[in-house]
Amino acid sequence: MRLILLGPPGAGKGTQAVVLSEILMIPHISTGDIFRANIKGGTPLGLLAKSYIDAGKLVPDDVTVDIVGSRLKEDDCDNGFIMDGFPRTIPQAELFDRMLEERGEKIDAVINIDADDSVIIRRLSGRRMCHCGRTYHVENSPPKVEGICDACGGKLFIRDDDREETIRERLRTYHEQTSPLIDYYRKKGIILNFDGTKPIEVTTREILESLKK
Ligand code: ADP
Ligand code: ADP
Ligand code: ZN
Repeated sequence: MRLILLGPPGAGKGTQAVVLSEILMIPHISTGDIFRANIKGGTPLGLLAKSYIDAGKLVPDDVTVDIVGSRLKEDDCDNGFIMDGFPRTIPQAELFDRMLEERGEKIDAVINIDADDSVIIRRLSGRRMCHCGRTYHVENSPPKVEGICDACGGKLFIRDDDREETIRERLRTYHEQTSPLIDYYRKKGIILNFDGTKPIEVTTREILESLKK
C-alpha cells in the first residue's frame, strides 16, 4: 500500500505513521526525520536544511524531491510506503506523481489528519522526540520513564523548531503552502479525512477501518 500522511505540524502524522508502518509492514518515510539525521551528522544537506527548518520555512522543493527519489530506490519501498510530511507543496505533489508514474505506481490513499491551531501549539510545546523516530508528549503520551524512549532506551529531546515563535511560522507555512494539497488530492478522489483531536488509538482504528474499504 502506498500512503501519504497529510496535516499541519503536530496533527499526529508521525505518531500514526509509526503504528501504521508496523501493522501494514511498510516503511515509514519522514522527510523531517531524514533532515534531522543529516543535521545531526553535520552533512552539507543538514547544514542547508537547518537554516530553513529553524526559520519555520520549507526546505526547497528540488532538494526535498531528490531525497525522496533516492529513498524510494531502496528495496524496502517495493511493496509500499507511508510518506510522513511529504509532499508539502503543490510542485512537490506534481513531481511525486510523475516519479511514481515512472515506477508504474500510484498513491492508494492520502490520510489527512486535521487539528486546530490552538491544539497544535499545545501539542508541539509538549512534544518529546527520540532519534529512533518515536514521538512522545509530556502529558498526552508520556514515556514510562521520564526522558527515555520506551522502545529503544534512547534519550528524548526537544526539537529546536518546537519553540512558540517557530511554531507560529510553521503554521503560517502550512496554511499557505501545504493546505492546498487537500484540494489537490480531493480532486483525485483519494483523500480520507480524520479528526486529529481524538485519542491516538481511536484515530489509528479509524484509519485502518477506512483503508479496508
Ligand atoms: P512536523 O512533524 O512538525 O510536521 P516534520 O518533522 O515533518 O515536521 O518536518 C520538520 C521540518 O522539516 C519542516 O518544518 C520543514 O522545514 C522541513 N520539511 C519536512 N518535510 C518537508 C517537505 N516535504 N518539504 C519541505 N520541507 C520539509
Ligand atoms: P506531526 O508528526 O504531525 O507533527 P506528532 O505525531 O509528532 O505530529 O505529534 C505531535 C505531538 O502531539 C506529540 O507530542 C504527540 O505525542 C502528540 N499527539 C499525537 N497525536 C495525539 C493525539 N491524538 N492526542 C493527543 N496528543 C497527540
Ligand atoms: Zn527510541
